[in-house]
Amino acid sequence: MDVKQQDKTYVAPTYGRADVTFTRGKGSLLWDDNGKEYIDFCTGIAVNGLGIAEENWLSAVTAQLNALPHASNLYHTAPQAELAELLVTKTGMKNVFFANSGAEANECAIKCARKYSYDKYGKGRHKIVTLVNSFHGRTLATITATGQDVFHKFFDPFVDGFAYATAGDYDAFVKESENAAAVMLELVQGEGGVMALDPDYVKKVVDYCHENDILVVCDEVQTGNGRTGALYAFERYGFTPDIFTTAKGLGNGLPIGACVMGEKTAGTLVAGTHGSTFGGNPVCAAGAVAVLKQIDQNLLDGVLEREKMIRDALATCKKVKSVSGLGLMLGIEVDGDAKEVVEACRKRGLIVLTAKTKVRLLPALNIPLDLLNKGLQILTEVLS
Ligand SMILES: *Cc1c(COP(=O)(O)O)cnc(C)c1O
Repeated sequence: MDVKQQDKTYVAPTYGRADVTFTRGKGSLLWDDNGKEYIDFCTGIAVNGLGIAEENWLSAVTAQLNALPHASNLYHTAPQAELAELLVTKTGMKNVFFANSGAEANECAIKCARKYSYDKYGKGRHKIVTLVNSFHGRTLATITATGQDVFHKFFDPFVDGFAYATAGDYDAFVKESENAAAVMLELVQGEGGVMALDPDYVKKVVDYCHENDILVVCDEVQTGNGRTGALYAFERYGFTPDIFTTAKGLGNGLPIGACVMGEKTAGTLVAGTHGSTFGGNPVCAAGAVAVLKQIDQNLLDGVLEREKMIRDALATCKKVKSVSGLGLMLGIEVDGDAKEVVEACRKRGLIVLTAKTKVRLLPALNIPLDLLNKGLQILTEVLS
């Protein structure tokens, strides 16, 4: 049985997989089981942010794997402590809970927001406002938090206590936020079509939340770790949230999620209120330390330089209607079917993905400029 047949037979059919089996990757290149080479503008959905098997990440992970792969959260381990310190000192937050995925990091944020409000105001003030078109994960609470009706089928009953406001509509937000504990924002809605929120709207929402002791939670699972040209996207919007979550690019290929809490919320989740067996696993944490240490101003400037190269190349394409997003998280509205564009690119050796009806680009933050240009040549050919 070949891999595809075996996969179809034994793996639950929850994914519409592309007709390719990858066997190897390095930096911004991937190879399939026929030895065909591809340029990677997908990074495993914004995970391999520094490129596949990046050298510093690889040696940190390998060393930790040899020293101690797992000990559990019953004990102290150095990589987790160091990673928490990095996340806190680089952002002005206070402490961190480690999980294994974006959805789990968001679960922690939801629990933290609810308990913050419970501790201060008692029962009942638990509502969390999210935005229409958002994506926050696949667990029951996080699909409920996700502001897209397509996710709100089959699995009734959903979790109580969520309300949805249309992005950009401040009055709608104020209306929904009555008696709310928190608002949860993706500053660039990734899965929802790579839509950056309007900065004026965000400022008004944040100000309103500060005035009313409504926690501001940023879901930086996709936008975080340099993706938008800042370490976290809230920096580009000029505020510090009460809680932010991140995952994807933090791990650079290994599963890790983090819920990072600020001044108001750091004392909320005390012993016995939350936990995880694998969360902050030493190998994943050692890799994440190597990731964060490399996200400096030079790398972030490179993100914006690469964004400009992509936007300039796309501006010449007949089939490009518009380009949205921030940094190296870009969505292309195309004349035609985005899925066909993805396939045409793959046949020519370029991996891109979709977001709703758009073609989405998530290349490595440090993709070598020659590979970026080579990939853009393929993309512009397909879109001309
Ligand atoms: C991917 C994503 C998630 C879910 O992360 P998982 O690791 O798949 O659980 C949550 N929020 C946002 C914004 C995401 O892009």
